[in-house]
Amino acid sequence: YLKNDRKPFGGTLQRDSQCRSSLPAPTLHDLDERLALASKDPGDVKPPLLSLPRQIFVNRSLALEKIKCFGFDMDYTLAMYKSPDYEEMAFQLLQERLVCIGYPHEILEYKYDPTFPTRGLVFDALYGNLLKVDYHGNLLVCTHGFRFLKGAEIWNYYPNKFIQRDDMKRFHILNTLFNLTGGCRVVAGSPCPSGICDTGYKHGNLFMSFRSMFQDVREAMDHPTGCYCASLRSLTQPRVTLLLSRMKEVGKVFLATNSDYNYTDAIMTYLFDFNQGDKRPWRSYFDLIVVDTRKPLFFAEGTVLRQVNTDTGKLWIGTYTGPLQHCAVYSGGSSDMVCDLLGVKGKDILYIGDHIFGDILKSKKRQGWRTFLVVPELAKELQVWTEKRTLAVSFLVLTVFVLSSHLDSGSNECPDISSIKRRIKVKVTHEMDMCYGKMGSLFRCGSRQTLFANQLIRYADLYAASFLNFLYYPFSYLFRAPPTLMPHESTVEHVHVELSESGLLTGHRLNQLSFYGQQVSG
Ligand SMILES: [Mg+2]
Repeated sequence: YLKNDRKPFGGTLQRDSQCRSSLPAPTLHDLDERLALASKDPGDVKPPLLSLPRQIFVNRSLALEKIKCFGFDMDYTLAMYKSPDYEEMAFQLLQERLVCIGYPHEILEYKYDPTFPTRGLVFDALYGNLLKVDYHGNLLVCTHGFRFLKGAEIWNYYPNKFIQRDDMKRFHILNTLFNLTGGCRVVAGSPCPSGICDTGYKHGNLFMSFRSMFQDVREAMDHPTGCYCASLRSLTQPRVTLLLSRMKEVGKVFLATNSDYNYTDAIMTYLFDFNQGDKRPWRSYFDLIVVDTRKPLFFAEGTVLRQVNTDTGKLWIGTYTGPLQHCAVYSGGSSDMVCDLLGVKGKDILYIGDHIFGDILKSKKRQGWRTFLVVPELAKELQVWTEKRTLAVSFLVLTVFVLSSHLDSGSNECPDISSIKRRIKVKVTHEMDMCYGKMGSLFRCGSRQTLFANQLIRYADLYAASFLNFLYYPFSYLFRAPPTLMPHESTVEHVHVELSESGLLTGHRLNQLSFYGQQVSG
């Protein structure tokens, strides 16, 4: 999917040896040769494969050459943390902070559990439960503290095993990679000898609701700490500057972070401060830097735009109304102001972030920006999906077996399919889920997609484990979304025949198309 009139891997920078930049760009002649080969022996043509962790996955087609501006979030996007070291440290700091504000010392005994997911769950502030749900609000898994709820108990709390997830006061979707989930588990799961009721703890004349506990966890997580730099993933630093330099050669680059200037400066200085001959200040890699953005508000009316005094870290008084200044730092503002200052339109921008709601959903829905979601969990998800592919096949076989009965509405025979359903649920679904972690995959539970997966498909044009995967693609690349067939369309063979006749693909090779953007599904 390369166009032959674009420069490969633009720029004069020294090539990353791990990239494929030394390969010549394919030409139309190459394409003709491949088409001829495919028409002779369709089984002999294989697309070039990039290893799964290096791939960028595609929900909606995107021509990279049309992108004039690359925008970045900072935490968990540009600044990648060592996992699970960082989460463990953040979890301990959270526990200490909670004890500081009055929570019992016993909560310090809980250890961070890396097999429990950090995001994609919903916290029910009424009952203190953590829920894994699908897009419509149907419950997939339910826990309270460290205990999994089962059958009747779930039905007791949630009639129809369903929640109205639009009730934002009660149901909080945990989208951040900062470990709010761990905090929710600890406070809801702490033993309270005095008394527990459905909606909180009682101690003498005091009542503590799960809602107020959630508020405490959120505030404790926001409490600033100076230890985070030590957990930044040091190995990736030179590759960050390499990619940003290449992006700056083909377009504009900006940073829009919710963090304040002092924190941003500390993190970015650490990130860009490594041993290399040509030392550049981190600010010089960006055309525009905006801190205190207050996303998602940033993608709507925003706030007042002010300039930051980079010597003191304080804000200049008054609203900034001037032109864009080189290496200046701004505070607040809105996505419209970013477009005005950089002279670009929303469709020209590819915004890269890790927060499905604050970074991706709002920028897509409100401004029509092109979007790229960073999903660090993909590394583990892809590993399990690959290693346990036989389990996925078993699931398919069992499902087909259930559906392949030749009975019709006139049949008196009633086959017992309960044992097969049980095998699907217990043997295949549960076994597969446990390979991912305590709550299963971030994207699915058996054959059902999670709320997170659905939002990712709807709002992220592209996604990958890291934005650094752009290093493996030329800026002329056309990211092609795989064809999405409706259930009735997927039953008809002619789609495969047409693909085969074009000489490019045959049906049995659809599973090899990962380089062209196959998503984790199926
Ligand atoms: Mg972030």
